[in-house]
Amino acid sequence: MNIWTKQYPEEIPASITYENTGLQDYLIRAAEQVPDKEAVEFLGRSWTYEKLYEEASAFAGALQNLGVEKGTRVAVMLANTPQSVVGYYGILLAGGIVVQTNPLSVERELEHQLVDSGAEVILCLDLVYPKVSAVKERTSLKHIIVTSISDSLPFPKNCIYPFIQKRKNGISVKITPSSTLHRYKELLQQKKTYEPQPLDPAADLALLQYTGGTTGPAKGVMLTHRNLVANTTQCMRWMYKIDHGNEVLLCALPFFHVYGMTVGMNFSIMDQSKMVILPKFDPEEVLKTIEKQKVTIFPGAPTMYIGLIHQPSVTKYDLSSIRVCISGSAPLPLEVQQRFEELTGGKLNEGYGLTEASPVTHFNLMWGKRPQGSIGLPWPDTEVRILSQETGLEAGPGEVGELLIRGPQVMQGYWKQPEETAIALQDGWLYTGDMGYMDEEGYFYIVDRKKDMIIAGGFNIYPREIEEVLYEHPDVKEAAAVGIPDPYRGETVKVFLVVQDGKELTEETLDTFCRERLAAYKIPRQYEFRTELPKTMVGKILRRALQEEEKQKER
Ligand code: AMP
Repeated sequence: MNIWTKQYPEEIPASITYENTGLQDYLIRAAEQVPDKEAVEFLGRSWTYEKLYEEASAFAGALQNLGVEKGTRVAVMLANTPQSVVGYYGILLAGGIVVQTNPLSVERELEHQLVDSGAEVILCLDLVYPKVSAVKERTSLKHIIVTSISDSLPFPKNCIYPFIQKRKNGISVKITPSSTLHRYKELLQQKKTYEPQPLDPAADLALLQYTGGTTGPAKGVMLTHRNLVANTTQCMRWMYKIDHGNEVLLCALPFFHVYGMTVGMNFSIMDQSKMVILPKFDPEEVLKTIEKQKVTIFPGAPTMYIGLIHQPSVTKYDLSSIRVCISGSAPLPLEVQQRFEELTGGKLNEGYGLTEASPVTHFNLMWGKRPQGSIGLPWPDTEVRILSQETGLEAGPGEVGELLIRGPQVMQGYWKQPEETAIALQDGWLYTGDMGYMDEEGYFYIVDRKKDMIIAGGFNIYPREIEEVLYEHPDVKEAAAVGIPDPYRGETVKVFLVVQDGKELTEETLDTFCRERLAAYKIPRQYEFRTELPKTMVGKILRRALQEEEKQKER
């Protein structure tokens, strides 16, 4: 028995037998067992499980009609909408592999993901269609399926989401369907049936989830049906006291990120509960929705909870329906946890995970001890080792090292990247790049990131990517991007620059340059011009030294 499983209450098993099934089978099962139950609520409109499955099946049939076969990669580029759920499960029913893309991606980021994954079809929101169409010829895309927010009419009055208001005011992207360009709504109306595909859940991929990993450009994390079924099942067992089948989940975390996908969408469907979908996080709308829909579970990132507790109107709302909230992706400040629990009377617990592990590996006990600052205990079947960076040996309790993880939720590797895979996965152990330690009782703590990833407002930013863009500017000689503390976003990007001799650059020029090449959340918020940057003996810029300087300023 692992030291940490001794802390488990008897309701949580140390090991679970996972169903040998595809993820889509949970939607089929829900449609059979609870057809009339509400599965999705979106801005005033509902989908029962029967209706959700009917639409996912019609989408799967349409995809097969367009040539999608077992293993075909199908990209999705959507804000959270019912179409995100229908699209995702439709692709799986058709035998395809989902490739999630962030709708905020700029053309070069999108092109990289499409080319790398070899996606042949994309389901996208009309507002991002110009980006998709601009890169199409340089990718393997054969079909583009366009959906509009208005495919999920009607909207409530005074809808706060600007992109929906735009639609209501009649500003829309003109789409003329052709043999390669399709309207989502029309495909569903064809009501084609799909042919179920043979499936080996342990070997067949369900998802390519792009992440920066530990270095360089985004890589496709290969997650099988088994990986995703396992992580969702682990989540179900961890939440042993919830009212299974009768929970109301608020899905404001994006489904295109692995966290919102597993802990929001897939969890809700496996549990046959109801998901209330919000297209984006807006504190006032979230509070209103919790009260109106009597939300019981709200997975989020610390910045979301910070936004909620500081909303001036927060005490106006009845938030007493909240039972358990799940915080992940960055450290959860204690005062935020305490204030949120005071306001709702429910639990807000911290967990930890990463894309490469579907994502969750650790969680605090929902109804048990939760030591301050801890990410909790490893989930059932999840083995953890801590490797000391100094000695290369396993670290003892209290000693900091890199977290290594092995378990049924751990990825198969990076898509078409055998070298990167060999670095990240050794003997089934995932090298997380996160530094942490375990205490005497088996509770885990994260202290720092080995990798230099910056997390701003829950979004991951890789400094190298920003530096690469800056280096494209002819007047930039040297560039280093680092994360600096930001009271609201957790971290934000600061860039240190050396300008080419005899040239001049302003913050404004660089800001415009970056905005054309990077998604908004990656744009540096601060620039500092220097005559030189600190370097190693071999001339590598010492990002860490710059970061340290920033830390010193904080003290
Ligand atoms: P992603 O792959 O986007 O899910 O990002 C994973 C990274 O987020 C991890 O490798 C950690 O660096 C960070 N992370 C996730 N959860 C926590 C947490 N509770 N505390 C600190 N860092 C976290």
